[in-house]
Amino acid sequence: MTTRTRFAPSPTGFLHVGGARTALYCWLQARHEQGDFILRIEDTDLERSTPESVQAILDGMDWLELDYDEGPFYQTKRFDRYAEVVDQLLAEGKAYHCWCSKERIEKLREKQMEEGIKPRYDGKCRDGGEPVPGVKPVVRFRNPREGHVRFDDRVRGPIAISNDELDDLVIARPDGSPTYNFTVVVDDWDMKVTLVIRGDDHINNTPRQINIYEALGAKPPEFAHVPMILGDDGARLSKRHGAVSVLQYREMGYLPHALNNYLVRLGWSHGDQEVFSRQEMIDLFSIDGVNRKAAAFDYDKLNWLNQHWMKTLPPADVAPHLAWQFEHLGIDASQGPALEDLVTVQADRVKTLKEMAEQSRMFYEDFDSFDAGAAKKHLRPVAEAPLRAIREALRDLQSWTPASLDDAVRGVAAELEVGMGKVAQPLRVALAGSGVSPSIDKTLWLVGQERSLARITKALEYIAVRAAGQD
Ligand code: GLU
Repeated sequence: MTTRTRFAPSPTGFLHVGGARTALYCWLQARHEQGDFILRIEDTDLERSTPESVQAILDGMDWLELDYDEGPFYQTKRFDRYAEVVDQLLAEGKAYHCWCSKERIEKLREKQMEEGIKPRYDGKCRDGGEPVPGVKPVVRFRNPREGHVRFDDRVRGPIAISNDELDDLVIARPDGSPTYNFTVVVDDWDMKVTLVIRGDDHINNTPRQINIYEALGAKPPEFAHVPMILGDDGARLSKRHGAVSVLQYREMGYLPHALNNYLVRLGWSHGDQEVFSRQEMIDLFSIDGVNRKAAAFDYDKLNWLNQHWMKTLPPADVAPHLAWQFEHLGIDASQGPALEDLVTVQADRVKTLKEMAEQSRMFYEDFDSFDAGAAKKHLRPVAEAPLRAIREALRDLQSWTPASLDDAVRGVAAELEVGMGKVAQPLRVALAGSGVSPSIDKTLWLVGQERSLARITKALEYIAVRAAGQD
């Protein structure tokens, strides 16, 4: 039987990291077993679902490159189907109408709480409720009263729940709209899902859902409930810990593959291996290896992986993500060094693509003023001769490569009989506007010949003005 998994988010907020990890596990399990991966948007909660959240989910999946074989399906497009199944269950006596008022249910609940009993519907309408004029009934599922529901969770192991702990849950509201525990069963059944992977906040729903499968004469899928993700303080990961939406990780400058690599390890391991290529994740992942214990989010590790992948992936694969950063920061990177070259030079100097873009602004945009501290220190009259000499050397240079540029800088230092720093430091400030840039040969290489010459001239003018001011 082909493995079929699905990711079934409710579009009531962003796609957060917990959801993204669930999606990744569903996707990996399907890819590992050459099965199918389905995306289903559970938008039946009309008040809380928004088109923006749907879009954020789709964009998040796209950005993480979690491609689906079927979908996205939308539950709101399947209301006729749910109504049909509700009718079927009613006709077979497996569900019933209930006219109990909200007030009655509320009182019942209070009484049960007082008596220390778990609140639950008492079954008043189970064996023939009395229609109340003007009241539209809900539909309740007739949950078995005896026995146990048993299932073997692929993460948690064997689980058994006694049916007397489960009450007759509402499957359709008075306006006919279906409820979560019901739609999820109809969908997983219709979509032939074989393995449900989801957060363990749903584990209490599973026995109820299994009973509905059984009432429908359907074979329940297998289940794997994955533990939640905690913040570094041990509390459930939330806004407080930083990013809410996976798309915020894009803004922060993470590569989608770095986040995937990070998330796959958050709750799953293969020996002590930390770094996984996409193909390795597919080859090695198994839902059965997922840890039962909650895992804590660790930015240091994510940063480390991000840098690793910025350095390791082919620069051409990193470049489009860097291009996104430039655009996002409003930097026009169309005239200047190739993004691949930038990635090669900058990857081991920064942790994120955002830093990379910010620190590379100077390769595309001219600056109006020099950093005051750096200029004070390095753009002094003593720098005039080295800057003039290097300008001459660079003007005539035929080949503009890091190696030839390194030779040129060394040549000038030798000719003037000064240390490399005496040439390189003022040159760096001239080119970058500050004292921070990649090595001088790489900086020259990326700034390019024309811009380098213009900037050195500007620095010489600055020195002249300064010298005049001091006279
Ligand atoms: N829609 C549910 C949620 O977003 C998930 C349902 C499921 O995976 O069964 O929490």
